[in-house]
This record gives sequence, C-alpha cells and structure tokens, in this order.
Amino acid sequence: MIFAVSFIFGLIIGSFLNVCVSRLPQNLSIVRPASRCPKCLAPIKFYDNIPVISFILLKGRCRNCSAPISFKYPVVELLTALLTAFFVSKWHASPLWLAVALAAVYVLTVVALIDLETMMIGDIFSFSLAALGLAGSFVNPYFSGTAFDRFKYFLTGGVFGAAIIWFLAALGKKIYKKDAVGEGDIFLMAAIGALTGWQGVLTTLMMASFFGSAYGLTLLALKKAERLSSIPFGPFLAMGAVINLYSLVKPEYFLFL
Ligand SMILES: [Zn+2]
Repeated sequence: MIFAVSFIFGLIIGSFLNVCVSRLPQNLSIVRPASRCPKCLAPIKFYDNIPVISFILLKGRCRNCSAPISFKYPVVELLTALLTAFFVSKWHASPLWLAVALAAVYVLTVVALIDLETMMIGDIFSFSLAALGLAGSFVNPYFSGTAFDRFKYFLTGGVFGAAIIWFLAALGKKIYKKDAVGEGDIFLMAAIGALTGWQGVLTTLMMASFFGSAYGLTLLALKKAERLSSIPFGPFLAMGAVINLYSLVKPEYFLFL
C-alpha cells in the first residue's frame, strides 16, 4: 500500500522533473505557461498529461499534430516513481531524513538529465544539494554524535568531495593534457560529500567510474562516441550518490572485489 501510494506520488513528481529538465537550462519559468507540444505549441489538456498513462493512450504522439513525444518523458516518470517508492519503503520510519534524501534524489535526477543533454551541471543545483546536506546533517543516519560532530561530518564530507575530484582533475590534466573533469563536477562532488560524508564520496566515485567506463566503452565499441571525454560524468556521479543516499556503501566493501 505504502509502495503504491508513493509510486503514484513519484509519477507526479517525475512529470514535474521533466518540466524542470526541459525548461531550466533555457532559463524558462517552470510554472508558466502550462505544458505545450514543442512542435505545434498546442496546450496539452490535463487528461493528456497524466504521467505514463497518457503517453500509452496517445501512442507517443501529440493529439493535435501527431508529432512524436519523446519516450524520455515516461521513462523519467517511471524512474522517479520507482526511486520514490523504494526510498519511502526504506526510510518512512525517519520522515525527516526521508524528506531530505528524496529532495536530494529529485535534484540529482534533474542534474543527471540536464548533464546528459547539455554536458553542463548548474552550480545552483550543487548549492541546493549542499544546503540539503547541512539541513539534513542533524537527521543524517550516516553521521553521529552531537550537533557539532554532525556539522563536522557535513563539512569534512564536502571538503573531501571537492578536494579529491580537484586532485583527479589536476592529475587528468597532467596526463591527458586537457580538462577531463568539469568544474561543475567539483561542486557536485562537494555537495555529495555534504550529504553522505567522506565514505560516500569515495564509493560514489568508485561506482561512478565503474558505471561511466562501462557505458563509455560500450558506446566506443558501438562507434556511437568518438572518445571517452565526450561522455558526461555527472549522471554517473548522481547514480552513485542516489545509491549512497539509499544505503551508505562503505569503501571497505570494495576491498573484496
Ligand atoms: Zn503537437
């Protein structure tokens, strides 16, 4: 029951995240105007704007002009719904942490999708995540001790996140003679450290490198990408961070691999 209700709530949030992803990079308002078909600009009626269901009923086409609707929309809605349902099932006994973690998951989803499309990570998202990390530090299940101790976890996580990726960026520049890591990645890693602590930073990086290389090598093999540096890293950092927010992956787990 709780899974079903949070799944439906997640579908609605996912629909809103789609609006954020398509409008925020162009500096457009996310509340006005109401959704329109990007092709014929006809306003989308509320009954054609039901997450996933409308896409299926309309067979993925605009009711007015039959232009195809990207399958990204229902995929993002389903993904958001699943993440919401899993997080609610796991963390409903700690409602404050659940609220912080879910808000962070939604911001990370938007960051990942915008980075995929534009190769850019807006600093405003990283600052929002760091603010969530600070607010959440008092209820963060991965931090412990007094309020001051918890603040130190938040701070060291953030500094460690920025420092380690700044170091990797400098190293990459020495070896490959060009920027391998974007500045946006540095702020994003600081924010991930603020939310998950230094252990989360390490394992987020490990998981992101693993998923990112697997994805990059697949694209190279399929000749869909020219070189690894043209593949955004943000989506994989976001993926690692979401896993850590759900359940902290400790660095020592990787010792056995
Ligand atoms: Zn249309």
